[in-house]
Amino acid sequence: MHIHEYQAKSLFRKFNIQTPVAILINNTENASKACAELGCDVWVVKAQVHAGGRGKGGGVILCHSIEEVENACNKLFGSNLVTPQTDAKGLPISQILIEGGQNIKRELYLGLLVDRQTQKITILASTEGGMDIEKVAAESPEKIIKFGVDPLGALTEDDCVSIASKLELEGELINQFTKTLLGLYEIFITKDVNLIEINPLITTIDNNLLALDGKIDFDDNALYRHEDIAELRDTSQEDEKENEASKYQLNYISLDGTIGCMVNGAGLAMATMDLIEHHGGSPANFLDVGGGTTAERVAKAFELIQTEANVRGILVNIFGGIVRCDLIAEGILQAIEKVGLNLPIVVRLEGTNAPEGLKLLDESTFNIHTEADLTQAAIKIVELSA
Ligand code: GDP
Ligand code: MN
Repeated sequence: MHIHEYQAKSLFRKFNIQTPVAILINNTENASKACAELGCDVWVVKAQVHAGGRGKGGGVILCHSIEEVENACNKLFGSNLVTPQTDAKGLPISQILIEGGQNIKRELYLGLLVDRQTQKITILASTEGGMDIEKVAAESPEKIIKFGVDPLGALTEDDCVSIASKLELEGELINQFTKTLLGLYEIFITKDVNLIEINPLITTIDNNLLALDGKIDFDDNALYRHEDIAELRDTSQEDEKENEASKYQLNYISLDGTIGCMVNGAGLAMATMDLIEHHGGSPANFLDVGGGTTAERVAKAFELIQTEANVRGILVNIFGGIVRCDLIAEGILQAIEKVGLNLPIVVRLEGTNAPEGLKLLDESTFNIHTEADLTQAAIKIVELSA
């Protein structure tokens, strides 16, 4: 789960990480009051969306008067922000962080994640922070400092000081950096974080170290034990269909192809998508309806697939291991009765009671193509949705 920059920064402050003064607003009317309260003469208007690259997408605007702040807010509120990290539609802006502008001397990068290769919590740091960190990582990886934390110990002050010196920090800034990194590590460990990142971590002209941005991705599987974090979820920033699907325990991910897939089991779903591609088609979604599928879930899955504008045909591929194929067939028929069917459909059933299930579908009044063989089913749906 992702959270907004303002939420990340509020967590940062609780863990002794310094951030610029800032006020969150929900509409332009509150902008001038916020500016006055901050008491600065330069402000940064920052759109709160769950995507990076906001600076490049016009979502971070430096303003020198209250009027400029208001104009920036008017422009952003209610619109969608498109950045190099969003799709073409972008993400809705309903909250803006107004921050006191900083006199930036240097922009550093600091992040923590679990490195799957070394199986260690790993600190990534760079003197080349800011909006082009991805480019730095790709073109000059030697500029990214990597430090693996001893899995049997913890991050120490000495570790922090050594990383600070690689970042060419001196004097008081070393202490501030140590506090910042220990704080990040503490959040990482105590809140079950996948990725935590400050980019840029700045030094200012008057020699302070501040987190100018904040990004945190939490482990969804551990959210149950972090109520305070789970509360921070903003579903307006998430895919509507994927959320709707998760309410029915369906694993659904929208893609941009034309063949809707309904499959039980993630592995089988991936194999099905591969076969569709192999035979010249392209999947419109990944959908795992799970092991113990019910008629209700099958109906919901149908509904989701059919509301994707780009879908031109549906391939159902069910392996009856735990479930019986005749029950699945009944579920499919009920689902079609409920939500209708206006697209070609191929159903492949294999496993327990597969012949009975296929027979039920063949005898129905709906135009359902049945197949016992997966390759044949894939070829057929590609042909029907061409
Ligand atoms: P991102 O593009 O989504 O990562 O958004 P950031 O919060 O990182 O902001 C993008 C860039 O805006 C930063 O890398 C800074 O260069 C710049 N920026 C942000 N806040 C300030 C500020 O207070 N003063 C100045 N001069 N630049 C800022
Ligand atoms: Mn950033």
